[in-house]
Amino acid sequence: MTSHETLPVDNAVVPVAGLLQLLMPANAVGFAIKGLDGLYRLANPVIEALLCRPGDRLAGKSEADIVPPPAHNLLAECDRRILAGEAAAWTRIELVHGGQRRRYAWLKMAILAPDRTLQAIASLVEPLQRRHVSLAAKETLQRLQEANRDLQQMVVELEQAASTDRLTGIWNRRRLEESVRTEMERMARYGHSLCLLLIDVDHFKRINDEHGHATGDAVLQRLTTLLQGALRKVDSLSRWGGEEFVVLCPNTARATAAAVAERLRREVAAGDFATVGKVTVSVGVAECAAGESWEEWFARADAALYRAKDAGRNQIRLAPEQAGSDGYVVANFVQLVWHAAYESGNEIVDRGHRRLFADANRLLAAILSDRPGNGLELIVDQLLAGVVEHFRDEEAVFTAAGFAGASEHSLLHQGLTSEAHELLASYRAGTRGVGDVFQFLAYEVVTKHMLGADRMFFDCLRPATAAAVNPAVAIAPGNAR
Ligand code: GH3
Ligand code: MG
Ligand code: MG
Repeated sequence: MTSHETLPVDNAVVPVAGLLQLLMPANAVGFAIKGLDGLYRLANPVIEALLCRPGDRLAGKSEADIVPPPAHNLLAECDRRILAGEAAAWTRIELVHGGQRRRYAWLKMAILAPDRTLQAIASLVEPLQRRHVSLAAKETLQRLQEANRDLQQMVVELEQAASTDRLTGIWNRRRLEESVRTEMERMARYGHSLCLLLIDVDHFKRINDEHGHATGDAVLQRLTTLLQGALRKVDSLSRWGGEEFVVLCPNTARATAAAVAERLRREVAAGDFATVGKVTVSVGVAECAAGESWEEWFARADAALYRAKDAGRNQIRLAPEQAGSDGYVVANFVQLVWHAAYESGNEIVDRGHRRLFADANRLLAAILSDRPGNGLELIVDQLLAGVVEHFRDEEAVFTAAGFAGASEHSLLHQGLTSEAHELLASYRAGTRGVGDVFQFLAYEVVTKHMLGADRMFFDCLRPATAAAVNPAVAIAPGNAR
């Protein structure tokens, strides 16, 4: 596609004239493509003359907007068949055009992506000839089939254009945010670390002012090439906007991300930017913490970037790991990390389980920060009472759900409950230490019981619709790892 004629699609501009020529035969066949949202994207003048008021455009409209109900229902039926997997579907409809009622054949075809998923629906409309499909339509159909490959390619390009930045060709903010969503879900599920680098060109305004905007653009392009060359394959580079870039590093711990950032900074500083000479960047690095939102995470990277600028630019800064909300030291290395996979779908059970995780982590943090005895005693009290309470709630839930192993499971609870009571008594008497309490909670209750025996009744709990849907549940008081 080399033509300069362009069509705005999702804020991007895609050259389509070549394709339109290919698809717009000289005969009077109307042709259009609509997206899966039901709105038309492309249309030739023939179909527009047929369906729209003079001067009106088809793009942006749905079939309900342009054809009366009986015809619209027939067309919707064609769509249903295509959505159900058919390659093409056609129908006859009546339309009033130029004051005359006429019959038309309307053929719809699936446009598939290379992975065979439906991307869009093409329409071919022409006046219905007596009883047989006209030669023109047959020819057109053939041409259409020949052109199908180009069409698929175009849809891929449209999609790409909507996710890539036009100046640099890398992902734009929209595409980045899609990727962030996926990676944050993976992180919540598997507990992988996930880091973010926010890169900002130093004194870029000066470059624009001294060399002009076009040179500024060229610097951004050269910078993109440099950054991409220095990145690992797993990392993705996106343009956040202006002279700001984001690197998303999946499966990467904070220290490694800092090393990646430092390498990028060094590569840019060592790079050659033609007439502009030297260009430097500052970088803020932040690791995503459990339960943190994208906005919070990004804000921490931004704050780190700000500190790098403040310290004189051409340097990197790491966002601090999030401090525990109750001021305890963060026990990163042995914390229990909640995963979405632990969820049963029942709100009461899941809330109880998350609380057990949080309690165990809180206790651990308290132990490691050497809190005076009093504070610990209170935590231990609350925690063991919480375990007993949770067992009661859980029994009510699985009994109501008709779990076959209810009485057996309740026996397990009884055993653990009496153990909890004994433990509390001996802890108060000073014969058992807080380490024993943690061991009991983390190992017996959480690891063995909750992640083991409890899974037996998960199947019989019908997922409540109001169940916690946020997989990145904040249970750990700090950076969960
Ligand atoms: P600092 O070191 O503090 O980041 O200073 P700075 O000058 O880089 O920061 P500032 O945010 O003040 O300026 C950014 C400039 O980037 C202002 C804007 O005109 C320019 N800019 C944003 N987008 C583009 C673009 O696509 N092309 C060009 N050439 N310039 C752009
Ligand atoms: Mg800036
Ligand atoms: Mg800048």
